[in-house]
Amino acid sequence: MSRYKDEQCRICRREGQKLFLKGSRCYTDKCSVSRRNYAPGQHGQRKAKLSEYGTQLREKQKTKSFYGVGEKQFRKYFEMASNKKGITGDNLLQILESRLDNVVYRLGFGSSRAQARQLVNHGFFDVNGKKVDIPSYLIKEGDVISVREIKKDKSIIKANVEDNTSKPIPTWLERDLENLSGKVVRLASREDVDIAVEEHLIVELYSK
Ligand code: SF4
Repeated sequence: MSRYKDEQCRICRREGQKLFLKGSRCYTDKCSVSRRNYAPGQHGQRKAKLSEYGTQLREKQKTKSFYGVGEKQFRKYFEMASNKKGITGDNLLQILESRLDNVVYRLGFGSSRAQARQLVNHGFFDVNGKKVDIPSYLIKEGDVISVREIKKDKSIIKANVEDNTSKPIPTWLERDLENLSGKVVRLASREDVDIAVEEHLIVELYSK
């Protein structure tokens, strides 16, 4: 059981950086990366040199874990990004940031992306006044995301809001705590992405 509970931390340790998969614990000194910043397992402290392919693969796995996206969906996002104008890597990150579960997390209504995904699945949110329970739903500029009236009193929402009130939210979003809602002022740009990712490695991997 404790192994299972540590699974998310093992992902961070394998990638050698915090991926913020566990909510408030990630901001405390209980974080496993802060305490044991080496890969899990018997040989975790050995620094193995990765091949070019291995480095590209790790970058993709890290990004997938950070956003909690499976391989099929991630590949689909890559294809969407390639077909859009602009830099494919930037487009890919923008699409990932636009997922409804990510936006709910960024607004502080979910303590982690995983929890935000669960809340979306359970019908906690409206987008522009209509219930949306699909975590992969892609928001657009101007969209308003709000906690549904019947869910506003739920203790999980109250606790998240209380925990996250002082945490800054990204500049591409606006939050209205009184009404438990948020607005997409603009879509996220590369500078708004706070994970240390070299997205060109992912593009190289998929372009082989
Ligand atoms: Fe665990 Fe969060 Fe630290 Fe990652 S960032 S190791 S999920 S506590």
